[in-house]
Amino acid sequence: MTASPPPGTTSVDLAGRTALVTGAASGIGRACALRLAAAGAKVRAVDRDAAGLETLADRAMATAGGVEAHPLDLTDLEAAELVAAGTDILVNNAGLQLVRPIEEFPPEVFHTVLTVMLEAPFRLIRGALPHMYGQGWGRIVNVSSVHGLRASPYKSAYVAAKHGLEGLSKTAALEGAPHGVTSNCVNPGYVRTPLVEKQLADQAGAHGIPEERVLKEILLRDSAVKRLVEPDEVAEAVAYLCAPQASFMTGTSLVIDGGWTAH
Ligand code: NAD
Repeated sequence: MTASPPPGTTSVDLAGRTALVTGAASGIGRACALRLAAAGAKVRAVDRDAAGLETLADRAMATAGGVEAHPLDLTDLEAAELVAAGTDILVNNAGLQLVRPIEEFPPEVFHTVLTVMLEAPFRLIRGALPHMYGQGWGRIVNVSSVHGLRASPYKSAYVAAKHGLEGLSKTAALEGAPHGVTSNCVNPGYVRTPLVEKQLADQAGAHGIPEERVLKEILLRDSAVKRLVEPDEVAEAVAYLCAPQASFMTGTSLVIDGGWTAH
């Protein structure tokens, strides 16, 4: 079945493709799962939030490709590698954030952030490549961040993981090119998702200002466009990178940051 794009979206036909999206129960991952399913891909949705995945799968019933729920905690790296086998498209999106100065940052949280946001993507790519190489086609999209390119204070684990993800993505691009596999990052500024809502109080504490001043004075300070970006806008860029027409885009970082990195 050829997918017709929803109004206001670019024409991307992924009929017959299988796409794995991590962190699919919420925010950007959820928007990506729905967008790729609308483009005709059969989506394998991975998250540790099983209830959120079920809600997503119900919501996706009317899409061309549909969404299948695969509850999984990505700190189980063996399981992460296994769940990626046989996918044509891999979107590494799951993530978490903690805002603390380095001297107060719990080492065990640093370890978990690096495991979920860097080691798991490595294992998922490792699990996905044999099938992609076998058929001479594959798409890897790594949801990085402006924090893959720039640092901010109090986000040591997140910034380290995202900078690492940029390196992993570029390496996968070089190795995958002879096999028809592209690997790219998308780099949003602040997106309207629970991950951002949850850090408002932490940011207020770390910077010593009231919570209601955080959005304007901290999060949007360097953005020329003074608003949060919507998950659907990020999903649209991800869908484009998965499309047949993006076959020459690889090893790059597609910035969606309202002008933040233009400074
Ligand atoms: P979110 O909190 O809305 O969703 C993250 C999802 O990841 C959740 O469903 C959560 O259950 C899942 N997850 C976390 N740890 C997991 C684990 N161990 N195993 C399985 N699933 C796990 O966050 P979001 O804002 O949609 O973020 C998604 C990605 O986008 C992250 O990689 C984040 O770094 C990146 N990003 C977000 C923003 C932003 O402003 N929100 C900006 C740039 C990049």
